[in-house]
Amino acid sequence: GRVMKNKPKWLRVKLPTGKEYREVREIVDNYKLHTICESGNCPNMGECWGAGTATFMILGNVCTRSCGFCNVATGKPDKVDPFEPVRVAKSVKLMGVKHCVLTSVDRDDLKDGGSEIWAETVRAVRRLSPGTTLETLIPDFRGEWGNLQRVIEVAPEIVSHNLETVRRLTKQVRIQAKYDRSLEVLFRLKKGGMTTKSGIMLGLGETEEEIIETMDDLRSVGVSILTLGQYLQPTPNHLPVDEFITPEKFAEYKRIGLEKGFKYVESGPLVRSSYHAEKHIDK
Ligand code: SF4
Ligand code: SF4
Repeated sequence: GRVMKNKPKWLRVKLPTGKEYREVREIVDNYKLHTICESGNCPNMGECWGAGTATFMILGNVCTRSCGFCNVATGKPDKVDPFEPVRVAKSVKLMGVKHCVLTSVDRDDLKDGGSEIWAETVRAVRRLSPGTTLETLIPDFRGEWGNLQRVIEVAPEIVSHNLETVRRLTKQVRIQAKYDRSLEVLFRLKKGGMTTKSGIMLGLGETEEEIIETMDDLRSVGVSILTLGQYLQPTPNHLPVDEFITPEKFAEYKRIGLEKGFKYVESGPLVRSSYHAEKHIDK
């Protein structure tokens, strides 16, 4: 059934308000930027935008893929905008962002998979804000490793690629993706000298054993930062929530993750890939 379950109390959050929030809102609107915070209906907008953090989504607002959990529109993608890197860089500067998180829609329609714009955006942010660190949450580039290499060459401080779920549910959750290909992305990033990060959503029907197995798989390819958060169904047309994981259980997974050797584990109902991202930079 497509029934939205009632959210437990630990998932209720305040609506975004306040001066800082409005300032970020204005810059994002003025520069015609997209944020995953909005596209993903992220519950942390009040907190993050209030603190001057936003995750910019580059390469348009329409994705060539159709993951069952994701609120980004699927369809004919936007035309590539060669000025997007500079617009992102200008707003990062204006917002005084210390740690800039970038993500993109998947551009399986482009020969370079969007990797040229990816690399140029990193370079543009560095040019305008030399003190700002960068975190790029990247797609799998369909296993076109030359495209992945373009990201490695500009060496963001953290490179993230999310598994999103356990092996068994990957087909259901990320129809165009492959669990092992994503592991290979992370492996190649690590081999290229990157600090890597990955995340999965809980509450999609995975078992505890499968979560642990996923942690082991991520450690086996050298991932050092892990995020675990509750999956929330963005609309009734998206995958249903199977279970609301309690904060106590999230705390237990955090302990297990740290024991397995992850350097940082963000684990909690409201954790998203970019949540507290600035805390994982080793100064
Ligand atoms: Fe945006 Fe990430 Fe914060 Fe959510 S957690 S509001 S996506 S920066
Ligand atoms: Fe959403 Fe990314 Fe999947 Fe596209 S590839 S549908 S943006 S999760």
